Amino acid sequence: MPIEPLLPLFHRLNREHFQGSLAPGGQSLVSLRWSDGRMTRTAGLYRSGPDLCEIVLSRPLLEPLPRQALLSTLCHEMIHAWVDRVLRVREGHGPRFRACMAAINASQSAFEVRIRHSYPLPGAAEGGRQPRWLARCPRCGISRPYRRRVQGLACRPCCEALHGGRWHASCLLAFVPADNLAS
Ligand SMILES: [Zn+2]
Ligand SMILES: [Zn+2]
Repeated sequence: MPIEPLLPLFHRLNREHFQGSLAPGGQSLVSLRWSDGRMTRTAGLYRSGPDLCEIVLSRPLLEPLPRQALLSTLCHEMIHAWVDRVLRVREGHGPRFRACMAAINASQSAFEVRIRHSYPLPGAAEGGRQPRWLARCPRCGISRPYRRRVQGLACRPCCEALHGGRWHASCLLAFVPADNLAS
């Protein structure tokens, strides 16, 4: 299944929002990769250590979402990398992170960077509580339980079967409150 290569996106965002500082001389300071299928707690992460500096993006969480979610998540992790590797400051979502995020959000409208970016997977068992929503796919008709309602979520199996694994608007899930379907 094709997944979007991350390096071209990284270089574009780096040029547009970080003045090229994350790839001096064209050489990226950070390595980038898609996660395997198990990374489901967060859509993306940045980590660095003595011999490691990388951004990992979650395949299972981002694949069923529109492209803005990928851009927003990648950009979020790039801000962490910029604060860490360029400014050399240790802060999580601190004042420098927030100022950079605000500037990027003000400068364009293709995506919005947010502090939190966990996107839900289907599953009634999450948190041991009843799902509040059912999301039904208009293509395959299958409903899956969700704890939260998510804008722009598409049916992953249908996107894989019909659109080469890319998000497609024809597979957008329709959310209905689970209570209404109790009978
Ligand atoms: Zn973060
Ligand atoms: Zn479907």
